[in-house]
Amino acid sequence: MRSAQETLLEEGKNIGSGSSMDLDGLDLHLSLLASKSDLTKIPTSAARAPDIYSLANTGPSTSKGTPKTESEIVVLVDDMDTDMNSTASGLVTQPESEYPSGQESVANPKLLGFQESSRKSLGSSASAISEQSDLSSPPASPSSKATTPAHVTDTKESLETPSRPIATDVTRSQRPTPSRRKFNVRPRVSIPTDIAPFDYANQCIAAAEHSRLNPYALHQEEYSMLREHISHAQVTTYLNIRNGILRLWLNNPRIGVAREEAIGCAKDSRWFDVANVSYEWLLRRGFINYGCAEVPSSKTRRYKGPPKRKGKTVVVIGAGMSGLGCARQLETLFKQYAGQFQQLGEEVPNVIVLEGRSRLGGRVYSRAVNGSQCQRLIGFKGQRHSVECGGMIITGFERGNPLNVLLRGQMALPYYALRPETNLYDTNGKPVDAQRDLLVERLFNDCLERVSDYKFKSPPSKLIEGNRDLMDEGRDSASEGNKTIAHVEETTASMPQAAPVSEQSLAPQVNLVPVSTDKATGKTHVEPGTAAALKAAFKAKLMGWALKEGILEDRDLELDTAAKSPDVTLGSLIDEAITQYRDIIDLTPQDYRLMNWHIANLEYSNATNLKNLSLGGWDIDAGNEWEGKHTMVVGGYQSVPWGLAHAPSALNIRKDSAVKKITYNAEGNGTARVECEDGFSIDADYVVSTIPLGVLKHGSVKFDPPLPAWKTDAISRLGFGILNKVILVYQERFWDTSRDIFGVLRSPSSRHSLKQSDYASQRGRCFQWFDVSNTSGVPVLLALMAGDAGFDTEYTKNDELVSEATEVLRSVYGAKVPQPVHAVVTRWGSDKFARGSYSSAGPSMKSDDYDTMAKTVGNVIFAGEHTTGTHPATVHGAYLSGLRAASDVLDTMLGPINIPSPLIIPKESSMSLSSSAVKRKADTVPLSPQASKQARIEAHELAAWQHIIEKIGDRPWRPQKVAGNSYLLYSKANFDAARKRCEEGRRLGKGKPSPNEVRVMTSKMWKEATPEEKRPYEDQATEQKRVYHEKLKEWEVVVKEWDSKALQARGEWEANGNKLILEDSPFDEAAGRERRGQKVNTYAESDGSDVEMAG
Ligand SMILES: Cc1cc2nc3c(=O)[nH]c(=O)nc-3n(C[C@H](O)[C@H](O)[C@H](O)COP(=O)(O)OP(=O)(O)OC[C@H]3O[C@@H](n4cnc5c(N)ncnc54)[C@H](O)[C@@H]3O)c2cc1C
Repeated sequence: MRSAQETLLEEGKNIGSGSSMDLDGLDLHLSLLASKSDLTKIPTSAARAPDIYSLANTGPSTSKGTPKTESEIVVLVDDMDTDMNSTASGLVTQPESEYPSGQESVANPKLLGFQESSRKSLGSSASAISEQSDLSSPPASPSSKATTPAHVTDTKESLETPSRPIATDVTRSQRPTPSRRKFNVRPRVSIPTDIAPFDYANQCIAAAEHSRLNPYALHQEEYSMLREHISHAQVTTYLNIRNGILRLWLNNPRIGVAREEAIGCAKDSRWFDVANVSYEWLLRRGFINYGCAEVPSSKTRRYKGPPKRKGKTVVVIGAGMSGLGCARQLETLFKQYAGQFQQLGEEVPNVIVLEGRSRLGGRVYSRAVNGSQCQRLIGFKGQRHSVECGGMIITGFERGNPLNVLLRGQMALPYYALRPETNLYDTNGKPVDAQRDLLVERLFNDCLERVSDYKFKSPPSKLIEGNRDLMDEGRDSASEGNKTIAHVEETTASMPQAAPVSEQSLAPQVNLVPVSTDKATGKTHVEPGTAAALKAAFKAKLMGWALKEGILEDRDLELDTAAKSPDVTLGSLIDEAITQYRDIIDLTPQDYRLMNWHIANLEYSNATNLKNLSLGGWDIDAGNEWEGKHTMVVGGYQSVPWGLAHAPSALNIRKDSAVKKITYNAEGNGTARVECEDGFSIDADYVVSTIPLGVLKHGSVKFDPPLPAWKTDAISRLGFGILNKVILVYQERFWDTSRDIFGVLRSPSSRHSLKQSDYASQRGRCFQWFDVSNTSGVPVLLALMAGDAGFDTEYTKNDELVSEATEVLRSVYGAKVPQPVHAVVTRWGSDKFARGSYSSAGPSMKSDDYDTMAKTVGNVIFAGEHTTGTHPATVHGAYLSGLRAASDVLDTMLGPINIPSPLIIPKESSMSLSSSAVKRKADTVPLSPQASKQARIEAHELAAWQHIIEKIGDRPWRPQKVAGNSYLLYSKANFDAARKRCEEGRRLGKGKPSPNEVRVMTSKMWKEATPEEKRPYEDQATEQKRVYHEKLKEWEVVVKEWDSKALQARGEWEANGNKLILEDSPFDEAAGRERRGQKVNTYAESDGSDVEMAG
């Protein structure tokens, strides 16, 4: 028999970690927390109880009966420390109280060590090549032969991008002169010469995808910014440059991309200004140089003007992910724009964060637990035993999650990939039959699909694309066109019966329909398709259900009437759909329990009963999911906000500063005053409020003048619900450790009921369990209290909750289940600084309410998870909102991005100019040593490469990958048959099956196909793979030969007087090359997922 320790050791796999940066300071922070764990001071339950339950300060919403004593508690129960301004906070040790507070500079030697070492390792080419000089940027005077298409007429329609501020407090005369910049750089220096253009193109495209941008099309803001400056044909080159800059950033996000590095993505100096505009946009909008990166500061010339004005002050309220994200980004942006503030005669602005709690992280709270009585997990990579009271799961790192850069690329935190397999146990503790579960899950998803037919329809956006074929090969467009996008659009619009500008070049309208629900997060996965295309009975049969006797395949549900009812909600319509399905198929009480387990899961992701959700907007964020495994940070998620607050240097944070009043300037041009409960007050030019929606709803922070009705209406329409957790710490694990997640079905209030209303109060009670031992380092189970149960937790005694959770566990694991040695119960609804868990789409929500929440009022800018419609209720959404707020502040301070005209220099003048620029450079202005060295390396590499190719020809191309996938071959051959099957049972008015519906059908047919039917495709796939491998082997031989010849040719060439001699330290070259040469996402985990061929 294996020892328990062996078991633990073995289960410590699935751990990953970023690889780039080690936050020494963070380690220190964590070890301090561990060493001073509050658990030595756990009060006895009786002593703690009155504080724990002191709900008196929680306002009207928490006025239900409050227990006075807790003498019946049998285990040590330690509540969250978040509650109220009661004496509770005195009893609970606050993790961050062990740290130097944010107001002080970090005097901690180890942290300083980190800063020093990071500077050493990061003080590289980035800052080195950021200096400006006179080389190669042409003058501002537009030539009559300008190839930048000339600006035509003013747009008649407003093409403003919604939700970004346009008001700025910098008058035109104050703004730095919009002169054409000069760049001390050569074209192409940031494009690697040692990889094939095709590979470079792939990396650029991947970088855009990992940055939430369409690699092949302009973002709406890029379109608005560039439409009067470039032609459709020039979009390709612009996108190649933009994607190239993103590639530089993702190659090494520990170091910010310097302006000159970005300019070096242009292949021709005529495009330098375009590259500069792209760089500015990416920088300001937080697509590059965000998080804990070391960034180059902009060059500040010696200031000769009148005494500088004091820098502006930005007060950020809240040190959660949005507030810290915003404050860090502002610091980073101000450093990079220091020169512009100087030109305005101002000092660089100050940023101060006011946080009500005595800890950082807000709703990301990794509460320390005492591991002294517990078996420790061997191989645990965290520094501290903790449990996640709030945000916990990272829903995939791929496809643009900014946490990928923060956590893996910059902080190198260890993380654990949750195993997605989930066991479901029925009320009697027996595992639910997997087939039955699947059947009910499909029915539930079908109900979701049917109700999603009534979702808000979002208007299509503009789609201005580059030439994909060229971009895939890393090439720019040869032709440049001579009419701006604006000119073409307006000329087209002026034709009889033509579409107005705003309706031209629209992206195709794509309907996203829910296809499955994630068991770990409750979120629905969507795919393009047509909602509720098939009649209900036909679909039920397809899913595998037997129809009731006498029910024909064309029997359908009728949801229109219920959907039109004025008080319809997501929950009411789902209940209606289930009730109607009961007439078509036989549903047992167990099916109801299963169905309600899935509903509870959806209630978990919305932190409220489905009856509190808008039918139109409940999944407004659909289609923005990340990809990749769900993960948790080992040792505590709170390390991420801590890292943001402290690296690369400490932010100015004032803790224990509960803001009670914000007096702001409604016109946005004066000062605001922020007053705290402790009497502290501060004047600010801008206030960024990340106050949670629950607190805004509660009204405990006063705004003077009161916020306008359009804002307060959105505040009341959006929902803010409660999800709570019961967290149980054990001496040792007694549960099935082969899974990280398991679910338990709950009985309705009336046993065996087939009425949906009987299930609501119970279905979310400890319905979902997470074994979080791998991230806590000690045996811990965490149960969710979702939907009505989340609200109920606020008023239920600790011992009752722990007993209930223990009973649930005993139903599954038997009487052996012990009492926990320690327990934590969260009550986010009673928390003065949250007043709930996260936002949701309230029943009367309007489709643009999240955007409205993001809108600025006077000089108050809003951020927080409740201000982002694309990623609400999440940690990453909160962070992104902070980046957006920082960008809004900077735009307001400095005005919009300056776009020189013409943006692209005419060919002729550029040629003469670049030669004169080079001459001028040689005569008068020497390049900075770093830039000169960089340029020499690049020129040398390029020349060497050209010599090699002339001598031995191109490097052989790797054979093209083949699908080698039997399913793909099958689906290609059976596409028509699948389409026909989709057309059967189709409802009237649903149009033709979409390609995605056909794909889903093909996949179903494949699953149903017999081994004989599959065999020919499998054989074909095997053959394809065999041929590919053969070609690959041949290629490997010839490429090896080519590489050795190339090495020889290079050696000979260098021996012939072409050797590059660099006198300085090789450090900067290495760093520059590192960024250019690396592949995107090298800090990502290697999980074997990029296997070349599937099938
Ligand atoms: C139980 C639970 C589970 C969750 N699970 C996940 C998950 O698995 N994955 C995920 O991505 N997200 C999850 N979330 C959501 C996620 O945690 C939040 O969306 C995110 O942390 C919110 O960040 P924020 O900066 O907008 O707000 P907060 O983190 O709440 O930050 C706001 C800050 O403002 C401070 N503050 C409030 N009022 C005042 C005042 N008057 N004066 C001064 N300061 C004030 C608060 O103390 C707080 O620090 C979960 C949340 C909860 C509660």
